[in-house]
Amino acid sequence: RAYLDRVRSTTGVVASPHHEPDHAGIFRALEKRIISINEETCSPGEENSFFVCDLNELVTLYKNWRKELPRVTPHYAVKCNPNPKLLYYLAQMGVNFDCASKMEIAQILALGIHPDRIVYANPCKMSSYIRFAEKQGVLYTTFDNVEELHKIKKFHPSARLLLRITTDDSTAQCQLSTKYGAALSSVPELLQTCQDLQLNLVGVSFHVGSGASDFSSLYYAIRDARWVFDLAESSFTLPALTLLDVGGGFQLHSFKESSQVLRDGLEKFFPEGCGVRIIAEPGRYFAESTLTLATHVIAKRKVNDDEAMLYINDGVYGNLNCILFDHQNPTPRVLHHSDKFHYFDFDSSAPPHAVSKNHRYKVSIWGPTCDGLDCITKECYLNKDLVVGDWFYFPHLGAYTSSAATPFNGFDQIADTIYINEEEAQANIASL
Ligand code: PLP
Repeated sequence: RAYLDRVRSTTGVVASPHHEPDHAGIFRALEKRIISINEETCSPGEENSFFVCDLNELVTLYKNWRKELPRVTPHYAVKCNPNPKLLYYLAQMGVNFDCASKMEIAQILALGIHPDRIVYANPCKMSSYIRFAEKQGVLYTTFDNVEELHKIKKFHPSARLLLRITTDDSTAQCQLSTKYGAALSSVPELLQTCQDLQLNLVGVSFHVGSGASDFSSLYYAIRDARWVFDLAESSFTLPALTLLDVGGGFQLHSFKESSQVLRDGLEKFFPEGCGVRIIAEPGRYFAESTLTLATHVIAKRKVNDDEAMLYINDGVYGNLNCILFDHQNPTPRVLHHSDKFHYFDFDSSAPPHAVSKNHRYKVSIWGPTCDGLDCITKECYLNKDLVVGDWFYFPHLGAYTSSAATPFNGFDQIADTIYINEEEAQANIASL
């Protein structure tokens, strides 16, 4: 606790302002698109929700990553947002990839990316997918159980294996160790099986969960990984392990703090020059702030003079599924769109999840499907009485959103994406 307090007091928990996306550019893109939609005459779907993707934000995030974690090579977790342009730009910058399925591997290989830049980070794989990885030359993969090792021996005997260990993710919002990761007590058996089957064990991986409030789990996971490295060397005839995969769960708002803990853990247990390569699997760190979602008010039910129910054309079955699946609590911000376009409720200094109770109009916001579960927020306060045709936007909505959107109830939720700052991004990548 004292250690974490010290880290917090030296790093601060908030990202520095230059890591904010280009709000002015995002608003210009929102404005241009929304003004072009004539609500009276547009075809069905033309007023659908859409994303604005700030490509230069990706470059800023990558630079920030290199500054904070120069020893750690990121493998972007494709599941978080497989937007092809986002993947392309990440690849151009030299970011590698974490794929969890055949489709994700195929998508990355189709970009012309070498299979050695992929870690197939799913410890429980279908046999047919293991055969696919073998055929495509994808070597790095994770495992956490003996059965998986037998499948790998049969279908991909030359794979380079990372033993995924469990972590204490009790403070994480998205916990993964309930599902994956070998307990330390089962590590000797797994190492023995690797030795007996003459498999190519190259290292250890873990994931401390996402949305953690206590990063000491990261430190302890590195310590546990060191224990596995030492055990493999001292008690087995396995070749020395050379790769540590520290997983994902990094977020922009806590990145300085998690990076500090990670650097301290690495310095203590895997110091520079120890011969171990370090990789990570960040997803939300790269996708979250890069994309903004805009949605449109399609209906309104007045409850009283100061209270209403607003219905918008995206919801928990669409791009706002992160409310159900990823424990996110996205804050709607208002883009007013009546006779003269202007926005309000935008305050770049406000924390992203601030909802001001000082605002007069109380609303609940609902998605378009007929399911009562499709609720974006039960209570939210606005400073204007919105009407049908007005627009909301949700900043920082790129992570675990479009990747899990469904067409439930016949609502096509494949949202268009408008890209901004492409030239700046390219110039900045060229000078990396
Ligand atoms: N790696 C693995 C194995 C995961 O399961 C996940 C998310 O579920 C990630 C990386 C990415 O996590 P995040 O987006 O929180 O960085």
